[in-house]
Amino acid sequence: KIKVTDLHKQYADNHVLRGVDLEVKDNEVVVIIGPSGSGKSTLLRTLNKLEEPTSGSVVVHGTDIAKKGVDIDKVREQIGMVFQHFNLFNNLSVGKNIMLAPVELGKLSKEDAVKQAKKLLQVVGLENKFDASVSSLSGGQKQRVAIARALAMNPDIMLFDEPTSALDPEMVGDVLNVMKKLAKEKGMTMVVVTHEMGFAKEVADRVVFVDDGIIQEEGTPDEIFNHPKNDRLKSFLSKIL
Ligand code: ATP
Ligand code: MG
Repeated sequence: KIKVTDLHKQYADNHVLRGVDLEVKDNEVVVIIGPSGSGKSTLLRTLNKLEEPTSGSVVVHGTDIAKKGVDIDKVREQIGMVFQHFNLFNNLSVGKNIMLAPVELGKLSKEDAVKQAKKLLQVVGLENKFDASVSSLSGGQKQRVAIARALAMNPDIMLFDEPTSALDPEMVGDVLNVMKKLAKEKGMTMVVVTHEMGFAKEVADRVVFVDDGIIQEEGTPDEIFNHPKNDRLKSFLSKIL
């Protein structure tokens, strides 16, 4: 579980996050929406210390990762992240990409890592791609490999930052279906920044609207999409729906 309290992030005089309070419970799927530049990625990246907050606390499973001296590698083992651009190793096979972290970090023997990678490829619907080269894959396939790779460390929280926005439209559904499966079948705790409102409506337990560096409104998909209260949220929805 994650608990963010009074989180601030400043780049020079750009006050990007201005007091964010957010709680993500175990097995919960939280979708973050909001305009470009509002601080969504910055917020997500502070959840696994890719960004250092200026002030505030980010407590993950009881540890405040915003504090100095925290073993951040341990935290990152518990939190997988998937980005807009897949960041796979193009010179390695699909299987090797998935096996890399658990083997390098001594979590699994090579043999077990092979077994696990094959299982994860089944989860993401790419069971026949173990030996394929990354460069031979479509964007949607690459993103599903990136999800499998993040799962290989057996995280209990997954962060997604616009995982489908760099994909051709016909690839988007496959990736969202994998995410849906993680949420519904595996009960994965997920924080997802996305513009896919259909996904938010169907899968999110809670939708959080970020604008101007704070959470302007949060609620169930029904509350956010059908009964918005905040004027900025209303105006945002009128532009995207
Ligand atoms: P988008 O929907 O376009 O991805 P976002 O909501 O994810 O937008 P962020 O990427 O969090 O927005 O950026 C919020 C603000 O922080 C922007 O003004 C951006 O220029 C600034 N910013 C983000 N990262 C950095 C950085 N590393 N250095 C300086 N400024 C940054
Ligand atoms: Mg972003």
